[in-house]
Amino acid sequence: MKTPPPVGGPRSKREFDLPERSEDDVRRASKILAALRKRYPDAHCELNASSPHELLVATILSAQATDVGVNKATPGLFKAFPTPKDYAHATPADIEPHVKTLNFWRNKSKNLHGAMTLVADRHGGDVPATMPDLLALPGVARKTANVVLGNAFGINIGVVVDTHVSRISQRFGLTRETDPKKIEPDLMALFPRPSWCLLSHLLIFHGRRACKARGATCTEDAICRRFCSNARSD
Ligand code: SF4
Repeated sequence: MKTPPPVGGPRSKREFDLPERSEDDVRRASKILAALRKRYPDAHCELNASSPHELLVATILSAQATDVGVNKATPGLFKAFPTPKDYAHATPADIEPHVKTLNFWRNKSKNLHGAMTLVADRHGGDVPATMPDLLALPGVARKTANVVLGNAFGINIGVVVDTHVSRISQRFGLTRETDPKKIEPDLMALFPRPSWCLLSHLLIFHGRRACKARGATCTEDAICRRFCSNARSD
């Protein structure tokens, strides 16, 4: 596992060409991070996987699907295809029965087959640990690559922006953007680089546990009351 560079700030800004954020914004972000860490000390990736290639497979499957649904499908899949080579030696049709409970299973089967074939053939069976190599795999966009780099390799190269991270970031006033591609650099500019992977887990934990899309607990939650525009306007 690679050691992340020292706390973000100017160095991360130079390295990643991030937007300018005021010192007040950075201070407020740091308070949000501290409050979420205190609330969710065990925040972690909720996809079950015991190796980088299993995490990559689970993350490809998680598009438009719940982690719970993916975790139900993967034990059988991982047993049938224990290594990237096993996917490569199979066909997409062989993979399909194991993922049929998930949205877009036909396409995901193709992507799993394509991605694992490249991992086996081009990378000797080891999931590559760089953003460009991961983005070259079928079914892998920046969000999936960030999940794998952060959780399998401890590399903070970006922030995972899913629906929860988007919603909470907007409501907590961390970004005015709505496009995940623009939300990500806003968050990278506000939070120290070593916290980027954890940050997404914390926002996802809060999104899942306190801020459900419907029936949000807006006026009841101390963190919400402190930081969310929704709670303050209630
Ligand atoms: S105040 Fe409401 S909308 Fe804001 S994060 Fe909390 S639950 Fe979600």
